[in-house]
Order: sequence, then structure tokens, then C-alpha cells
Amino acid sequence: MSGPKAHDWIADMAPYVPGKSSVSGVKNPVKLSSNECAYGPSPKAVQAFADAAETMLRYPEGGSDKLRHAIADVYKLDADRLICGTGSGDILTLLIHAYTGPGDEIIYSEYGFSLYPVQTEAVGATGVAVPNKNWAADVDGILAAVSEDTKLVFVDNPNNPTGAYLCEREIERLHAGLPQDVLLVLDGAYAECVTAKDYCAGERLVERAENVVMTRTFSKMYALAGLRVGWAYGPRRIVDMLNRIRMPFNVSVSAQPAAAAAVQDEDHLRASVAFNDEWRAAMTAGLTALGLDVVTSQANFILVGFPAEGDKTANLANQFLNEHGYIVRALSVLPDHLRISVGTAEQNNAVIAILTEFMNGSPQ
Ligand SMILES: *Cc1c(COP(=O)(O)O)cnc(C)c1O
Repeated sequence: MSGPKAHDWIADMAPYVPGKSSVSGVKNPVKLSSNECAYGPSPKAVQAFADAAETMLRYPEGGSDKLRHAIADVYKLDADRLICGTGSGDILTLLIHAYTGPGDEIIYSEYGFSLYPVQTEAVGATGVAVPNKNWAADVDGILAAVSEDTKLVFVDNPNNPTGAYLCEREIERLHAGLPQDVLLVLDGAYAECVTAKDYCAGERLVERAENVVMTRTFSKMYALAGLRVGWAYGPRRIVDMLNRIRMPFNVSVSAQPAAAAAVQDEDHLRASVAFNDEWRAAMTAGLTALGLDVVTSQANFILVGFPAEGDKTANLANQFLNEHGYIVRALSVLPDHLRISVGTAEQNNAVIAILTEFMNGSPQ
């Protein structure tokens, strides 16, 4: 065939299948499939977004300077080592592009964030999926998988879709076992809602290592998924590389002040985290009481295990939820599980009620 030819590895890629956002026959389904934050954004962020409307004829500040300084102030970090992106997915992708290519290996967990394998394929690198341990990343398994070709290790901590996490000492043990030329990326998309005391998203390790980057997002607990803002904290050298290859105006004029207002509204975040903590526990208790296997979560969703056979499977539960107007996440890698985001109080109670009916209903 003639005509333009994409890289072989791109032509061979399976297209990404997004989570459902509609169900036939249901008018306004409730979407609990993308881990958006039901508590909602800070009103100050919404106001800042509206105020920015007048400036839309201008390009944004190229280096997201005010936003970087706002993040640095709140989290007590060095603004020069921060970079902002079009969501943290943007930065994760830039790291893959800057540090890997065809022939290189990228390690991640078998049950982990689905962006890693997709973007690994996009650059022609080879993904190495390591089985999880107790639903979190397996430190020893990852260390055993490192080869001469390994360039990058991703750990989503807490893990998506399982909600499990690794404590700071386990992350330090992982880092200590990695060769110094392997980049360790700690994806803290859910860092803000972790309540475990022995957790650290990674900033302490970033400050004393030359091969660690922590990524964070405004999409989850800050409830700004639609704005597309994320950030990373890393060694100067790495941040410098990312600044070379990123798009020059990657965070929009409205997104920069809105995200800055959101990060400064610490009271709002605290309230959102308290709400999440309360409902994560209540949903875990409610569904466990039905005999379902709920993975202990430190995130803003829970992973629920259903019987593999019979009339109470995850597939049938998913259909039943859909029929009642609720969309949750079915996972091809975990066919006996559903991932359910924490919603509003009313939605969470409805999920428990629907699944109670499903589990107790008479066999068809
Ligand atoms: C949601 C999520 C992200 C964030 O994506 P954005 O591009 O910032 O919206 C990153 N990593 C994990 C593990 C996630 O679940």
C-alpha cells in the first residue's frame, strides 16, 4: 500500500477503549467510573476560572510560574524543580518520550494505570508488567524484573485500579534496589486522599535522589479533571529535559489561576478528604457486609470483587447497576471486579442499595 506510513509499533497498537459514559435507555446516568471528585472543586477555583475568561485572547504564562509558586508554597517545595502539564498524564508521557525508546524496557504493575502500557507502546518501548502483591506494587518482583534494558519504573501509589498503597519504607527499599540510571516515577494521583500515616507521595525521596520524579494531579481530589492540570517534582536535570520537549503553553489561561486557587484553598481540600474518607469506609463496610471482597483503599474509589461464577458475577452486577442508571468501571484485566468511585452521599447510598438488591435478589 502506498501513502504515509506510521511507525510499525503504532500501527500494531490496540486503540484505547475509554470507560462508558452512557447507557442505552437511561437519561442521565450517574458516572462513577473515572474517579472524579464528587465533593466538587473549591468555589475559589471556579471564581478564578470565570475571572480568567477576559484574558482568553492572550497566550498563558509559558512556564506556569504563578501556579508553580502556589504549589511550592503550599507543599513546601522548590518551585524551580516543579513542572506543570496538561494533566499529569501529559507529564508521564513526556517522561516516557524523554527517557525511553525502541528497545528499552518500562516496568509497571500488572494491575496499574492503563496509560503506562499505552504510552510505552506509543514510543516503541517494551512494557514489563509485574504481578501485584497484596494488590499494591511488588517491590521484590519489580527489582527482579530489572534488566540492562530497563529505563523507567512506574509506581502508581496508591494504585489505580486497586486502591492499595506502598508505605514510604517500601518505596525507599525499591529505590535502593534500582540502578541509579533507572528513572523511578512515583505517580501520586491519589496522594491527597491517603490517610495512612506511613505514606509519603515521594517528595522526600525526590529531594535526595537524582533518579526519582513524583507526579501529581488536579484531576482527582482537587476536582478539576476537566481543566487538565497536573504537576511533577523532580531533580533539576530531569525537569530541564521535560521543559525542552513540552508544548510551550501547555496549561491554559483559565487552568493556571483556577488550579492556583484550588491549591491555596486548603480548607476545601481538607473537607473533601474528610468526605472521601468517610464514604470510602462506609462503602467498604456496606459492600463487605454483602459478602463482596472489597480491597482496602487509600484512594477515592474501591475495587470490588464478585464471585467468578453463578448469577452474582461482576459482569451481571455491572449490567444491574447500568439498568439502575449507574456507570462504574469494568476492567478487562480484572474481569471479576468492578471499580467504583466515591460519589455524593446520595449516589453512594444508591450504589449500596442497588448492590444489596443484586446480591439478595432471587436467582433468574
Ligand atoms: C487519574 C490518574 C492520573 C491523572 O490523570 P490526569 O492526566 O492528571 O487527569 C494519573 N495517574 C493515575 C494512576 C490516575 O488514576
